[in-house]
Amino acid sequence: MKANGDAQCLVLGAGIVGVSTALALQAHGLQVLLVDRQGPGKETSFGNAGLIQREAVVPYAFPRNWGKVVEVALRQGNDVHYHLGALPSLVGPLWRYRWHSEPERHAAIARSYATLIEQSITEHVTWIEMSGASDLVKKDGWVQAFRSNKAFEAAASESQARATGFGLNVDVLGRDGMRARLDALRTDLLQGAIHWLDAWTVSDPGALVGRYTKLFLANGGRLALGDACSLRSTGQGWAVKTDHGIAEAPSAVVALGPWATTVLSRLGYRLPIFVKRGYHRHYDGGARLKIPTLDAEHGVMMAPMSRGLRLLTGAEFAAAAAPPTPVQLAVAERTANELIDIGDPVDPQPWLGARPCTVDMKPIIGAAPRHNGLWFNLGHGHQGLTLGPASGRLLAELILGVAPYIDPAPFSPRRFT
Ligand SMILES: Cc1cc2nc3c(=O)[nH]c(=O)nc-3n(C[C@H](O)[C@H](O)[C@H](O)COP(=O)(O)OP(=O)(O)OC[C@H]3O[C@@H](n4cnc5c(N)ncnc54)[C@H](O)[C@@H]3O)c2cc1C
Repeated sequence: MKANGDAQCLVLGAGIVGVSTALALQAHGLQVLLVDRQGPGKETSFGNAGLIQREAVVPYAFPRNWGKVVEVALRQGNDVHYHLGALPSLVGPLWRYRWHSEPERHAAIARSYATLIEQSITEHVTWIEMSGASDLVKKDGWVQAFRSNKAFEAAASESQARATGFGLNVDVLGRDGMRARLDALRTDLLQGAIHWLDAWTVSDPGALVGRYTKLFLANGGRLALGDACSLRSTGQGWAVKTDHGIAEAPSAVVALGPWATTVLSRLGYRLPIFVKRGYHRHYDGGARLKIPTLDAEHGVMMAPMSRGLRLLTGAEFAAAAAPPTPVQLAVAERTANELIDIGDPVDPQPWLGARPCTVDMKPIIGAAPRHNGLWFNLGHGHQGLTLGPASGRLLAELILGVAPYIDPAPFSPRRFT
């Protein structure tokens, strides 16, 4: 039985990346079947900080400063945590991540990465307007706040250089500026802040993916529950098992976020992807905070969301399936409470997600090197919510064989084969 009618493309994974890819393919007139093992936007795309980071032209590098490495190794900071048992399998990817973070390589990566990030807002705008999701979006940017003068001064000069180099809008706030703009916080504990003005923020990222999916369905797209691990080549195309039977199409897109490696290893691909786990929890206080703010030295993001104040943590290096160890969240609660009364937890348990990161900090967008009709859109790391629509458009253009709107070469899967 064929479950998909006349689908011309299967898109596996209904996070922001898969849904945006499905919308972009549909806009070119393709019949698309979106397949997920649960509903759309229920995983990483649900639990993030909701930032559409137009300013994130420079991806997060492995720290080059040995003091920072020692701080992480000794577990002295809160922005990074690790499971000792996970380190043997992480040594290889982290070593490559460090190699790509060497200043000249990192600068070249940022120049490529910027070409995609620059499109992030304009590509979201199309789907925000068409899906009627403007009520979920604010255009007030986000803030990095600093408790020490040293960290503030370094960040201020880096932000000015980035703003000049990439044409970004930023306000560097001293004490008076903070008092006026961040009046919800105890600014007497802060030395200064960087306000990135070009970013947009989303009050419920999972709901945004839901709206985009509704638009896709309203325009004739189809959604099925199914397990992408059943993906197989049929000779003429690709097939996957869904709740309605076997779905087949000439082409398939793997947009499975942190789970892409599980499915692709069955097809013989060993992509250099590792995860940086992260936690969030909502609280019923902090209602006066209107702009998402990072307590930079403590690695805690405070994001006002529909469900309450969402506290989010930095990176945890652990096996993807290891049980949650939300030690960073415990510190986050304490340090955030110094800046704002966070109130009581709304969620019974912390949420745990995983950023799907590549060793060279760029997503993997393009044709599978060894299989006809198979395409990748994955590895969006810290900026998948930001990049979903921009990456979706690029991949759709590659699949359709129309001139891509930006140079796809820096994102090609072939760079790893
Ligand atoms: C704490 C935290 C904060 C973040 N903050 C931000 C931010 O502010 N801004 C930003 O841009 N990014 C942020 N990110 C990163 C961003 O959330 C991710 O890069 C993005 O959500 C990845 O999207 P995706 O569609 O690739 O993956 P996902 O959203 O994880 O989607 C993958 C989909 O695949 C499905 N799936 C998995 N396995 C199977 C299978 N076997 N069969 C069928 N379906 C399957 C899942 O159900 C899921 O729906 C953050 C991430 C974390 C963890």
